[in-house]
Order: sequence, then C-alpha cells, then structure tokens
Amino acid sequence: MSREIKKIKYCPAGHFSEDYVYSNRKNFITSDGICYSCTQEHFIHEFKTWSSGNANLDEIIQETQINIHNKLQWIPYDNFQNIEHIADGGQGSVYSAEIENGIKRQWNFVKQDWEYDLIGNKVALKEIKDSRYDMVGFLKMTKTANGNGYGEIIAYYAISKNPSTQNYIIVMESLGCDLHYFLAKNFWDLRWKSKTKILASIASGLRVLHAKNLVHCSLKSGSILNSTIPVIGLDLCKLENDLILNSNNKNNKINGSIPYIPPEVLRGNEFTRKGDIYSFGGIMYEIVTAQQPFADQAHDTYLMIDICNGVRPKVPDFMLNWIPEWYLDLMYRCWTDDPSERPTTDELVNLFSEIADKLYANVMDNDVMRQLQIADENQRNTSKSQKQELFELFSHSSKLHPQSCFISRYIYTLHGLHDFLKELKSGKSSDPNLLKPSESTTLNANTYDI
Ligand SMILES: [Zn+2]
Repeated sequence: MSREIKKIKYCPAGHFSEDYVYSNRKNFITSDGICYSCTQEHFIHEFKTWSSGNANLDEIIQETQINIHNKLQWIPYDNFQNIEHIADGGQGSVYSAEIENGIKRQWNFVKQDWEYDLIGNKVALKEIKDSRYDMVGFLKMTKTANGNGYGEIIAYYAISKNPSTQNYIIVMESLGCDLHYFLAKNFWDLRWKSKTKILASIASGLRVLHAKNLVHCSLKSGSILNSTIPVIGLDLCKLENDLILNSNNKNNKINGSIPYIPPEVLRGNEFTRKGDIYSFGGIMYEIVTAQQPFADQAHDTYLMIDICNGVRPKVPDFMLNWIPEWYLDLMYRCWTDDPSERPTTDELVNLFSEIADKLYANVMDNDVMRQLQIADENQRNTSKSQKQELFELFSHSSKLHPQSCFISRYIYTLHGLHDFLKELKSGKSSDPNLLKPSESTTLNANTYDI
C-alpha cells in the first residue's frame, strides 16, 4: 500500500511553497520528498563537481538545470554500456548505448538522494566528428526546443565526451529507423490513413519549432525517426533571430542535402520557416513515391541551377493513379519558388490531421476524401507481380545516382560560386559541389541526420 502523498507548505530545508522558484512559478513541495527549490539548490551545489571542458557549454547546461523544464546534464562517458555503432550522419556517427545510472530528474529530500529517469535504458549517442560543428549554438537551440510539443520532436538529455577521441557527444532518446528506411520497407502496405497521419505529425513538429522561433534548416526523411510516430531530429535547427541577424550577408556556403534545400537558400539567402515548408514538400514526395527527390540525378551545381530555374522532382506516371490531384497541388505549392506562396504549418497540420481523423473514422464526405479512397483502391488493385516490376523500375538501389547525397554536407551556394559559374559552364573547372571521395553516398539504409 502506498502512503498518501500530499502537498505540504515547508520542506525540511525550510523552503516555502508560496515562494517563486522558476521565474514565475511557485514552489511545489510534497510529502514524498519533492521540492523545486531543493532540486534547484542541489543542481547549483553540484556545478563545481563537473565540467565539459568548455566554459561556454558549462554555462548553458547550468542555465538549463536551474529551469523547471528542458534540463540538460553532463554525463561522463563511462556511464554508457553496450555501445554499438548504428549509422553515420552529416556531422558524426550515431551509436546506441545503455545508460547505467540514468539521468538526474529531481532531488528527493526524504531519500536525501537524486531520483533518476531512464536507469539502464537505451539512449542514442551522437558523436560529433566535424570540428566546425557549433556545439554552443546547438545547446542554445536545445534549450528552446526541448520539452515542447507532444513527442514529435526528439528529446535531448545530456552532453558527454568520448575520452579517446575527445569528441563531444549528444545524448538523446533512443531511435527507431528513419522515415526513408521505413518507407522503403513498408511502402506497398501503406494506406492513405497512415500516410496522412505521418504527415500530420511531422507538420505538427514543425509547427512547434516555428512557434518557438526555431527553423529546422535540414528537414528530410533521414532526420525523421521512429517513423510510425515520427520524431523530428534537430541536426541543424537554429533560432530564427540568429539567422535574421546574418541576413544582410549572403552565404557562400551552406550545410544540407541539395534536393531538400529551397531555391532561395541555394542562391545564398538565409533559411526561414518557409524554407522548412519547401523541405516538407520533399517529404510529401517521398511518402507517395518511396523515393527521395532527385535520387536519380547528380547533386551538383547544375542541379542547383535547375532547381533555381523551377525544376522540381517528377512523380512517375505509373504512380499518379495512387495520388490524388489535390495532394500533388499542395506538394508543388510547398515547392513554390516564392516563399510567401508556400503553405503555413497551420494549414498543413489542420489539413492532414482532419483527413487522417476522417480516414480512421471512415468518413468519406467530400471530394478530397473520395479521391483518397479511389487512390487506395487503385494501389490495392495493382497485382503483386506488377508491384514488384514497378518497384524494380523505381527502386532506390538501382536508380540511386552515384553523385547523389542525402546526408548533410557543406556545399557552395550560387552566390558563393558567382565568379566561378562561367568557368564551370565552359568546362574549364570541375564542380566544387561534386561529392568528394570522403563523402560517400551511403547506400546503407541508415543515414540518420539528427
Ligand atoms: Zn526544499
């Protein structure tokens, strides 16, 4: 039998429940040992017991610890067991590991000890191998993004460091496969109710970020994990204010995967929320084709010029039967050259949530719904052998261009190449945006960019 837990006025340390602890939040004290002030004091007390080796990082982690939500921690590397390599991404490698001691949640004054979450649980470790990675920027972004939404956004728990490589490690929630891998495996069995639910959830995650003035900057199927209930990784996510501060200067270089980068950014302008909507168009494309945009082309400067001239990925004719026209219209609206004409996250969330709800409830009350029903039937009526044939014709592995790259990498913008484009076109120089031998296209299914 559990003993009754009640709210109390004073903790044994003398903290009062009517005092404000976290900016505008009153203390919360319970008889079983919870006191916000005690937790805050114990975190502060321990500031001098750990260091990441970088004072700027320490300061941000400390700031999060005296907040009520979104606490980050410093975890020594020897806390991780059974570390296994999962995948390589744009900035480093991802591992799975177990976290023996868990993560400090709150101080308990009855037990006179910390209460921990995730003891012995699996987590994902992302080891940052790119020395240009802006770890301080990442932590600032995490401080804003963490703990918002309803699980559509990946949870970041802690920072660590690999003692043998001296690389920083980001500790985050354990991951399933990415959306690309999921679609490649399940495409033929997916009905529109699942497709619209996945899209509603991704759009909802984007909406949470945009409401916090965050811009994702690298949304693609490889940055979406646990695909049946999609979770967005925030690999290159940034605060919009920081981006706007830079907006007087055009960028010579950007980080990303060309098919998901909007034309204005390829030209050298900053990424905005409307840029994320362009990237969402790429996800809409993959949801209906199981193919990443421009997978059969080289991801080079010529493709960038084409995209800026209005070229967009094509849906193969044989698939048009399974895709309603309104869906294609919306997808191409996401890809509009003029950012102001792209839909908002509100529009996307409302549309896809409403449709998914109706499909689950089997409500077919308008043309949009009837078109989806017909599309599902058309896909269902395609025979297995036909499907096999079509898939061979359009499968990822056989059509993937050796110069395509769906993980983030540094590329020159057209602004950055301005003086060079003539030489490039005349064939005098080779394209600096071609993949280097070190940047493999990674045919491996898992190419997380989180
Ligand atoms: Zn207390």
